[in-house]
Amino acid sequence: MDIGFIGLGNMGAPMARRLIEAGHKLVVYDTRNDAVAPLLALGAQVASSPADVADRVETVMASLPSLQVSKKVALEEGGVIHGKRIKRFVDLSTTGSRVAAEICAVLAKKNIVQIDSPVSGGVGGAAKGTLAVMVSGPQADIDVVKDALNVFGTVFVIGHKPGMAQTMKLANNFLSATAMAATSEAVAMGVKAGLDPAVMIDVINAGSGRNTATTGKFPSTVLTRTFDYGFTTALMLKDVRLCVEEARGLGVPNAVMSSVLNEWEFTNTEFGGDSDFTAIVKMIERRAGVVVGKAGKKP
Ligand code: NAD
Repeated sequence: MDIGFIGLGNMGAPMARRLIEAGHKLVVYDTRNDAVAPLLALGAQVASSPADVADRVETVMASLPSLQVSKKVALEEGGVIHGKRIKRFVDLSTTGSRVAAEICAVLAKKNIVQIDSPVSGGVGGAAKGTLAVMVSGPQADIDVVKDALNVFGTVFVIGHKPGMAQTMKLANNFLSATAMAATSEAVAMGVKAGLDPAVMIDVINAGSGRNTATTGKFPSTVLTRTFDYGFTTALMLKDVRLCVEEARGLGVPNAVMSSVLNEWEFTNTEFGGDSDFTAIVKMIERRAGVVVGKAGKKP
């Protein structure tokens, strides 16, 4: 099918590439020319603005870095709302349910359907097509885009109320953020007591403490000291902050969420929003006065 794709970053670029490889015709847009060039080389058409994308196709997908950018691309001057052909806007970004519902309501006035479709599974999952794709929106429009979304991974229809898929995504990312923060503290404690972090990770992965940080992030980017998982601290901070807001708004206890949020705020202040989110380990290391790395290998 003809698909517009806006936002060709860490996630958007591999997802757009997979759509082209699956035979879809893409019209792409990003504010960075260097992001657009590889897709152009694969045969995508390049548009001059989100509105231009929405002038050319009925289905527009977006993978954008912040709530403000999602709102701008959807609703503001030059946004998809001004497009002549667009029928549905599929937001693959993490925006939280409030912003998703807000965008949905404004687009509805122009008879444009908004489909929430946040994803989980990282840059590697985007490249391999193994993402968890969470979807909420009207069933008829979900049916139209389902084959295209299947290219990204496994599609889970969460519900039909705007924002439901966003709530699902925040619950997932809170758990991922918590695993990373908690594993950083646990391993730093062990290292300070003289344990080998690589052995610790092996033991935890054979035991009941196993989680996504111990199976993925620690072996691939922390113990190797590369800190290049491909998800920024700014994005993780955004997700945990949205999760705390969501829980507070619903009147749900959030003591663990709020404490995890603090850890990401410290990381953001000390290492900057552009740092890889695995930098949280370095924040803990500073306070503990130890370095977590492969035994015998100096960082
Ligand atoms: P990114 O910063 O790498 O990519 C965002 C892209 O949007 C960039 O190419 C940027 O140039 C472009 N952009 C910024 N403003 C724009 C505008 N006004 N118009 C058009 N393009 C614009 O971010 P990412 O890591 O690809 O994440 C994208 C979304 O996916 C975020 O909402 C994030 O929370 C979510 N997400 C990311 C991951 C991950 O592992 N990186 C995993 C799951 C979900």
